[in-house]
Amino acid sequence: MSQPSVRDLHMAKPGEEFRIKDVDPAEVRLPVGKREGKDALKTDRQELVRLQEILYAEGKQAVLIVLQAMDTGGKDGVIRHVVAGVNPQGCIVTPFKVPTPEELAHDYLWRVHKAVPPRRMIGIFNRSHYEDVLVVRVHNLVPKAVWSKRYDQIAAFEKHLAENGVTILKFFLHISKEEQKERLEERLHDPNKQWKFSVGDLKERELWDDYMAAYQDMVNLTSTKWAPWYVIPANRNWYRNLAVGRILLETLREFNMQYPAPKDDLSGIVIPD
Ligand code: AMP
Ligand code: MG
Repeated sequence: MSQPSVRDLHMAKPGEEFRIKDVDPAEVRLPVGKREGKDALKTDRQELVRLQEILYAEGKQAVLIVLQAMDTGGKDGVIRHVVAGVNPQGCIVTPFKVPTPEELAHDYLWRVHKAVPPRRMIGIFNRSHYEDVLVVRVHNLVPKAVWSKRYDQIAAFEKHLAENGVTILKFFLHISKEEQKERLEERLHDPNKQWKFSVGDLKERELWDDYMAAYQDMVNLTSTKWAPWYVIPANRNWYRNLAVGRILLETLREFNMQYPAPKDDLSGIVIPD
């Protein structure tokens, strides 16, 4: 399979206008079909596991993966399929829920900064500080004068992280409204999936257009050189997983990492019987 840069294929280029309507959620931008794509993901994963081991051993930098999507958009799926096989000791997954009273008493980035992975780790945010310009905006949980300042604040926060050893990869998993309907129906009718169904999701679905406007602004206002957004067509799970995995892989490859030199002079050492 030829290897176009998947980052180039999906990056919302900083400074260029992004229109959500231009992305077809069912699109496949790599020259592969489902079968081939699934095989490619497996091969990629082997390399990912190897690179993560060096990231951990070297201990020089951190990777932060931010996952945002509408309900059923596939955040959990990405965590399960892309990160599968990676040494759990080198990963931290942090889900961001409705803020607790303690979290609400602080500025909105307080809980986020605490969860940023330390060097040597891959951190995954299942939702993130972007909820503070998505659900918060759509539901008017704070006045516009407050949330509208957050885009610049977030960009500055991420710049600070990027300049301090954290590589940030932000993924907006984009599904269509029709696809969400099918997925919600599946959750509703499959006894093994009902635990994931929440009646509140239907209320969010009613606000679909408001969310799309909020996502579009989010991408336009916070896709930066130091932390660009990748907008991933996510109707097809296999393609979503392949694309996210590839982007992570391309990023890790560029680190040109090395196992650290041994702490001691090992020449001539013999392990005694
Ligand atoms: P889930 O990820 O499906 O378990 O749901 C978590 C819920 O928490 C979602 O409905 C989010 O919109 C909500 N949530 C996350 N962060 C915030 C926030 N900062 N303010 C309000 N709601 C939030
Ligand atoms: Mg949910």
